[in-house]
Amino acid sequence: MNGTMIQYFHWYTEGNGKLWEEVKNNAEYLADLGITMAWLPPAYKGNSGENSVGYDPYDLFDLGEFDQKGSISTKYGNKKQYTEAVEALRKVNIGTIVDIVLNHKAGGDEKEKFNVYKVDPNNRLNFLSEPFEIESYTKFTFPVRNKKYSDFIWDFTCFSGVDYAEGQEGNFIYQIINDFGEGWEEMTSNEKGNYDFLMYNDIDHRNPYVREELNYWAKWYYDIIEYEGVRLDAVKHQSPDFYKEWLYTLRKNTGKNIFAVGEFWAPGETELLEKYVEDTEGAMSLFDASLHKNLHIASKSGDEYDLRTIFDNTFLKSNPTLAVTVVDNHDTQPLQALEAPVEPWFKPIAYALILLRADGFPCIFYPDLFGAHYKDYGKDGNEHDIFLEKVDKIEELLKLRKNNAYGNQKDYFEDANCIGWIREGDGEHQGCAVVISNKDTYEKPMEIGKQYSGQYFYDALGRFENKIQIDENGWANFPVPAGNVSVWIPE
Ligand code: CA
Repeated sequence: MNGTMIQYFHWYTEGNGKLWEEVKNNAEYLADLGITMAWLPPAYKGNSGENSVGYDPYDLFDLGEFDQKGSISTKYGNKKQYTEAVEALRKVNIGTIVDIVLNHKAGGDEKEKFNVYKVDPNNRLNFLSEPFEIESYTKFTFPVRNKKYSDFIWDFTCFSGVDYAEGQEGNFIYQIINDFGEGWEEMTSNEKGNYDFLMYNDIDHRNPYVREELNYWAKWYYDIIEYEGVRLDAVKHQSPDFYKEWLYTLRKNTGKNIFAVGEFWAPGETELLEKYVEDTEGAMSLFDASLHKNLHIASKSGDEYDLRTIFDNTFLKSNPTLAVTVVDNHDTQPLQALEAPVEPWFKPIAYALILLRADGFPCIFYPDLFGAHYKDYGKDGNEHDIFLEKVDKIEELLKLRKNNAYGNQKDYFEDANCIGWIREGDGEHQGCAVVISNKDTYEKPMEIGKQYSGQYFYDALGRFENKIQIDENGWANFPVPAGNVSVWIPE
């Protein structure tokens, strides 16, 4: 069966510990739609406790079990609810993908004094001072957990940089002088000179004790919920060597070929992703930020956009087996840091483009299936009330992926405003014909194959009532409404 992933959360997912229960209750519905993997949000305690989306990790061993940072539960629920949610998914053959944040830690328990260089935030290779002493919250002792599961204590030697220094004025980054390496760790990209530092206390993966602890933690975590995959946060800011080793060790220790997808967000810079694949020796898949960018631009451009170029410069095109394709995520949704949403009219088209083709591993975004409503302040300083609608025909498109998007693919990309492709089907599944228009109504001649000669096809998305008959040569004219998508399947 075709694999399909869902990102089962968004930035504004309701708190109050409700999400794990909701996952459990929706497991069967997701399986019915053809979802095979669910990417769940970071499940460990963040510095902002119950309000943490999860990207400010405090204690990786606290899956909603200890009264730390103001609560036992995380934003999404407690450990028992979490394990039950994962179990409910497993029962319906949906694998859990856990969200792994190993670039940084936040909310240290104690202050320490150590030596640093002051660094220019816009050029991290521009050191602005001689070594001097600062004080910062780099010691993590987890007094409430009290050494259960692990007695590892994090201190300043586990970090390569911090953005907080007691009593210091201005916004600077401080590169920590420790015994495990000089300066920043080597990165694949040279953005900002060196983009090792992202936020909080930046973990120094050169420290062998840190690597050992993170290897131990990954296996500890696996033994609790037996996850099928990992989604690796902010890999652009971490050494590729580290992840090569960490994933190798994880797969060896679990005896399982754990799926991995990294967040290397570099829209339009597919060559950087290819370099990262080389640096990690293909150990992980990567989200296709460049395809997302194309979808965003196409959705903003209406009929000005040349649909024939929709896959140009994408990771999907250069690396079809390692590309994980998305239409939106928790960073690109409205009011978030990388805001670049795909316009609603284009979303069914965008989903057809990632769900019904042979290449890539598609990931659908929670609000696109369930809708979402939230308020937050935008870059303009004003509060905005955001309603995200469930994408029109999303369930039908998912089921078409599950039931029809199989077999050889033939493209008909000859018209700037109307593209299409057919999937021939295979021994077990019937095929489909997909037509997309960003302008007028069209009828696209395509060859679905002689095996369908004489058969009637109908519009699986229900926009056309009439059926069309495949001619003796296996061809038909497949209609599409203006600015929309149609998928035709055999009766
Ligand atoms: Ca880093």
